[in-house]
Amino acid sequence: MLQVSERLAALSPSETLAMSQKSNELKAQGIDVINLSVGEPDFFTPDHIKAAAHKAIDENYSFYSPVPGYPALKNAIVAKLKKENNLDYKSEQIVCSNGGKQSVCNVILSVVGPGDEVIVPAPYWVSYVEMVKLAEGTNVIVQAGIEQNFKINATQLEAAITPKTKAIILCSPSNPTGSVYSRDELKALAGVLEKHPEIIIISDEIYEHINYVGKHESIAQFGNIQDRVVIINGVSKGYAMTGWRIGWIAAPQWIASACNKLQGQYTSGPNSVAQKAAEAAYTGSQECVETMRTAFERRRNLMVELGKEIPGFRVNKPEGAFYLFPDCSSYFGKSYKNKKIENSADLAMYLLEEGHVACVGGVAFGAPECIRFSYATSDKNLKEAMSRVKVALAKLV
Ligand code: PMP
Ligand code: GLU
Repeated sequence: MLQVSERLAALSPSETLAMSQKSNELKAQGIDVINLSVGEPDFFTPDHIKAAAHKAIDENYSFYSPVPGYPALKNAIVAKLKKENNLDYKSEQIVCSNGGKQSVCNVILSVVGPGDEVIVPAPYWVSYVEMVKLAEGTNVIVQAGIEQNFKINATQLEAAITPKTKAIILCSPSNPTGSVYSRDELKALAGVLEKHPEIIIISDEIYEHINYVGKHESIAQFGNIQDRVVIINGVSKGYAMTGWRIGWIAAPQWIASACNKLQGQYTSGPNSVAQKAAEAAYTGSQECVETMRTAFERRRNLMVELGKEIPGFRVNKPEGAFYLFPDCSSYFGKSYKNKKIENSADLAMYLLEEGHVACVGGVAFGAPECIRFSYATSDKNLKEAMSRVKVALAKLV
């Protein structure tokens, strides 16, 4: 029989992209949907970055780049890591890819194999667990609810480690919760990992620049584990460049070499023009980053306020990224017109159909009691969206 492989059959589609597509379909039918589902900045890419791309086209950056990216971009990333994070990397330790998403997947495919366990703190970004499945590894989920600000602690981490643990995936600032690990919290986790030298630490820092607590802290700063940390980062979020598709890793040499080999066989180097744009993002003025961060912080404050006004929502105060992740479980079991809300996926669908607001149920993020609203849109849209949510929820009995 003609059929996809077992590996593909077991893979779930991306819920974030699916909800966004659904919202776009309704919009195409003329329905006025406010899309708070997909996580991407609503800002245009800053002008000086666009100018660098125009220049790259004119200068004929039209050939294959080296597989891990142009030396100039890798050097710009090395300089960024030194200047912003006080971390020392060599250019050969950087591998640029088609977005942070490919960077995460490269690393997982490079180090995880059948039978290997990967510790994934929940709530997690939808794609981690699916990538681990692709690599035929086993996800070990560690739950951190809203009462602990969605962050795992050292005791929980220690309890999850087994002789089969190959890696852990941390994400700070976090998608979907917006939680940010403090230096002390990371130090405590590093203290546990120090005792387990066989574990690789994948640290997704793609929301580094969208941070409301001041300084970004990377777990790579702790010398006792630094030689096992892989930083994931990229230009999508901080520089409003989601469509350009440039992400990167800063990794131990053996992992960088493995990702280089893997990428050389299935995608080659990322888009040449986008690489020149990303280089300009890192070497040019950082004012645009702060302007966008300030706007996100204002929206964060607005969303927390609006979220708290919704009866039955339990809201915490996110410290980074651009998501509000309220506990909405008080609505489970309620109905409208014979439609019963069993879980947060049902609630997200209900809010889309009844309230014309697109968001994503927490089921996809390993937190079925919560629901994710992306606030990367205008204050006006946010106010209107949350007012619609309030009205739609009030109809549930
Ligand atoms: N990690 C996290 C936590 C994300 O939210 C995203 C956004 N899609 C990515 C990685 C990948 O970003 P991109 O591929 O757009 O660079
Ligand atoms: N990271 C964004 C989100 O979570 C973009 C969509 C995706 O790549 O999954 O919505």
